Amino acid sequence: IKAAPVRINSRESAEALIDRYDNFLFDCDGVIWLDEKAIPGVLRTIEYLNAKGKKYVFVTNNSSKSRQDYVSKFAKMGFKGITKDKVYPTCYAAVAALKDNYKIEPGAKVWVLGDSGIEQELIEEGYIPLGGTDERLNVAFNPNDEILKVDPEVKAVIVGSTKEFNYTRIASTLQYLLYNNKSIPFIGANIDRTYPGPEGLILPAGGSVVNYMHYTSSREFLNVGKPSTVFLDSILSHNGFDRSKTLMVGDTLYTDIKFGNDGLLGDGSGSLLVLSGGTKLPDLNHLIQNPHSFEDGESLIPSFFIESLATLTEWL
Ligand code: PLP
Ligand code: CA
Repeated sequence: IKAAPVRINSRESAEALIDRYDNFLFDCDGVIWLDEKAIPGVLRTIEYLNAKGKKYVFVTNNSSKSRQDYVSKFAKMGFKGITKDKVYPTCYAAVAALKDNYKIEPGAKVWVLGDSGIEQELIEEGYIPLGGTDERLNVAFNPNDEILKVDPEVKAVIVGSTKEFNYTRIASTLQYLLYNNKSIPFIGANIDRTYPGPEGLILPAGGSVVNYMHYTSSREFLNVGKPSTVFLDSILSHNGFDRSKTLMVGDTLYTDIKFGNDGLLGDGSGSLLVLSGGTKLPDLNHLIQNPHSFEDGESLIPSFFIESLATLTEWL
């Protein structure tokens, strides 16, 4: 039975946490910001880590924005020195999977159901995106539409988060997923059901789009986002992070916390839950009291929890 998580609520516990880890993986929505609004005090904690010589990167399941878009977003919010190699959105992970998992060479066409982040990362690696933000998809469904005809040169399908979800997009994507006895690889950018939006709203996340396509096509997909251990291992190796000295910080149990628990330390001490996003204290207590009512519930229990990333430096 897994130990109950340790609450970080004193100077000693905050210091011990910072001392124990050299590297930090930060989820974005619910940890750093809520959509376009920075969570107050988080910047101060990041600056504290800089002063301490700690290393960190950002790992987001949101595939809508490219790494370059995130660099601009961090700079606009006042974070200094966040370069492209410090951000890992799942649009980047999806494009890496084309090469690493499926050996699809640059130059190939790839069908996209998702936002411009996926298209930009594809172009950067030399792939040719089709679908995506193409304006010809912004129309009411018409069975004679050219866009519903499969281009036989398409070598993979990537599905991720989008706010542009209409029947023409779903129907055209389905044609690719069914084409040639379902032989075109199906990559899903994430499995998130919801994310904490602005104004206290709970909003549908990319996993709902991916699972719509999974259901209608009766096909499994490769999830390249958190909690994939393949994603985690590639981030650790890119950055030279020692697994035993790395902490995952996130607000979602079945993506972030599972990612840290499965991939960092075997004894499950590599995850910190923040309560500033989609998971609140009653949700955590419910999990601790009923782990068996969740799929692989023990792997969802964080090692530590804290109100917010900002709270850390309130104690220091
Ligand atoms: N926004 C959208 C549209 C998403 O689809 C997701 C995750 O799927 C998120 C935000 C949350 O991303 P993060 O991993 O940074 O919490
Ligand atoms: Ca999150």
